[in-house]
Amino acid sequence: MASAPKNTQSPPTLLWFRQDLRLSDHPALTEAACRGPVIPVYILDEQGDGAWAPGAASRWWLHHSLADLDSSLRKLGSRLILRRGESLAELRALIRTTGSHCLHFSRRYEPAAAARDQEILAALRSEGVAVEVFASALLHEPESIRTQTGKPYQVFTPFWKNLQSGADPLPPLLAPKRLAAPDAWPDSLDLRALDLLPRNDWAAGLRESWRPGATGAKALLRDHLPDILPHYPEGRDRPDRDGTSRLSPHLHFGEVGAREAWAAAGGYRGNQGNTNATPGPDGPRAAWRRQLAWREFSHHLLAHFPCTPDQPLRPAFAAFPWLADPVSLRAWQQGRTGYPYVDAGMRQLWATGWMHNRVRMVAGSFLVKHLLLPWQAGARWFWDTLVDADLAQNTLGWQWVAGCGADAAPYFRIFNPVTQGEGFDPEGAYVKRWVPELAGLPAVWIHKPWEAPEAVLRAAGLGPGRSYPAPIIAHAEARTRALAALAFMKG
Ligand SMILES: Cc1cc2nc3c(=O)[nH]c(=O)nc-3n(C[C@H](O)[C@H](O)[C@H](O)COP(=O)(O)OP(=O)(O)OC[C@H]3O[C@@H](n4cnc5c(N)ncnc54)[C@H](O)[C@@H]3O)c2cc1C
Repeated sequence: MASAPKNTQSPPTLLWFRQDLRLSDHPALTEAACRGPVIPVYILDEQGDGAWAPGAASRWWLHHSLADLDSSLRKLGSRLILRRGESLAELRALIRTTGSHCLHFSRRYEPAAAARDQEILAALRSEGVAVEVFASALLHEPESIRTQTGKPYQVFTPFWKNLQSGADPLPPLLAPKRLAAPDAWPDSLDLRALDLLPRNDWAAGLRESWRPGATGAKALLRDHLPDILPHYPEGRDRPDRDGTSRLSPHLHFGEVGAREAWAAAGGYRGNQGNTNATPGPDGPRAAWRRQLAWREFSHHLLAHFPCTPDQPLRPAFAAFPWLADPVSLRAWQQGRTGYPYVDAGMRQLWATGWMHNRVRMVAGSFLVKHLLLPWQAGARWFWDTLVDADLAQNTLGWQWVAGCGADAAPYFRIFNPVTQGEGFDPEGAYVKRWVPELAGLPAVWIHKPWEAPEAVLRAAGLGPGRSYPAPIIAHAEARTRALAALAFMKG
């Protein structure tokens, strides 16, 4: 490969990558590339996310995503400089050693990261550095979408209507074809020195399930999305089918931009795209964009209500009488609740770092309403185990499940894990995959093995000593208990 053209005319721009690990639709990078030499840098700042530093599954993903980004940058004649430490100190050191006086980065919305960014912006600008912040993670900035009275939306449907009736998101930008290198590269750590991979290798299931990085994201957009899109409105609710995009970790790490995901379904007015998706309010394209709008909504909520990762949006819920029951919490985490649909979800999460949305709702509801354990405990477990762990989406999901957030499930709605399983996994294929000890059961019993006749259980290999656990709590009892605990909400 020919070495990249050196530009000795202008000092390099530092391009600080964070949750935008891609080269296309990256305004901060595009603008930097137009100016002259670029030094791409990633800083692992373990304090920078406050109490929400990336969990173990996210760290695994990040390692591979950074490797992919470096390899893509090298194809453009560039490379990724890796640092570890406090962001401002590392940026100052880079500015000093490279002679750069221009820094570009993409905006983040998580409270701790946003506050840290403001401090960096103020400090470096006061030191004469030209700092520019670009918006690229969302379709629209949180300040730009408001109710008629100028307030942030707290209900999804009007938010979605507003999004549909407003201006289209900007079309995505193409990746630069070449990046000018600086006269000299600053020192970089080796990727392994970031220590992102687990010491005991538990990540085999993650390796089998994912291809982290923008290259993997592009492959899903190109090869998988056109296959699932025509059936997306029904298929997205079926954990027994491969009916969703699996783009969530890629979207979280910014390996694909929201505008690219929107455009991939021919999302622009007058453009049918290259899919067979039918336009119209109920067509696959609209259904796809609607889910992207949920992502958008979650980020808008987090930006406007920064306390919500820890505190319920509806203040009355702060007084909820949660139980402290580490034994039940452990059973839930390990997929041993005795409810096959819940256990399948929790085991899929442990094995692959991902769980189908429908099952996240039921497994989440089970923790909060059947076991009366705090939603924050569920959010923390998801945070550590999900490869797509995202503060905005995880917070929205858990507050929705608990009934204490924006546009939440009614607090008195208690998912029945048996009927949910029967409705969305009718043959039990999902359960059989993730709870293999039940694979011999006929579909009629798969979601309620405790009701199966003795002979059926024996024939399925579920005799004494090899049993699947009995339900940790009976559904009817859990329902009565939860409704009693929730009665205070009526007052
Ligand atoms: C308790 C709970 C916790 C959750 N935690 C997270 C999380 O940490 N990170 C995360 O990305 N999603 C989270 N979700 C939302 C949702 O489950 C995932 O986004 C989805 O399962 C990802 O799979 P996919 O990419 O195949 O989705 P697709 O159906 O292909 O959807 C496309 C994209 O739209 C967005 N999206 C879809 N559904 C939702 C939704 N309900 N809320 C917000 N955005 C959505 C995602 O970015 C997703 O990648 C959570 C949901 C619940 C109920």
